[in-house]
Amino acid sequence: TLPFSLFVKAVEQAPVAISITDKKANILYINQAFTDVTGYNAAEILGQNESALSDKSTPRQIYYDLWHTISRKQVWHGQLVNRQKMGQRYLADLTIAPMLDDRGAISHYIGMHRDVTQAH
Ligand code: FAD
Repeated sequence: TLPFSLFVKAVEQAPVAISITDKKANILYINQAFTDVTGYNAAEILGQNESALSDKSTPRQIYYDLWHTISRKQVWHGQLVNRQKMGQRYLADLTIAPMLDDRGAISHYIGMHRDVTQAH
């Protein structure tokens, strides 16, 4: 079996922005690519809500659909407009998956996103 530290490194070095949150989307962990994409380092963003990334121009319906989906233990995938620390807007292609505890209840969420601004 692989050493545990290798799993940690895999997430840390994965070439996609990864964050782990509590059930209310408060950020508990970010990887290096998250910092590269958003401009926020761990000290700046841990403890804040994922909504700190929102450009506030994304239609409410998208967030409703997102929460409706993930709170039912489904994976949500979509695109929304985010804002980097320095103010630059970007189009985020985002996938959110619920993480389940031993009893099958949602304990956390994992978010994975890329900047796909160039693709549009
Ligand atoms: P609201 O969505 O009303 O937010 C108000 C608060 O309630 C926030 O703390 C919100 O997270 C929480 N909330 C809303 N609905 C529910 C619910 N059904 N159950 C529990 N808590 C709820 N948003 C982005 O704009 N960009 C991102 O990159 C992004 N990444 C995310 C990654 C993960 C893993 C998760 C779980 C959420 C992510 N979100 C992201 C959604 C984000 O948490 C907000 O819901 C969204 O930004 C809208 O925020 P708001 O303050 O405008 O309104």
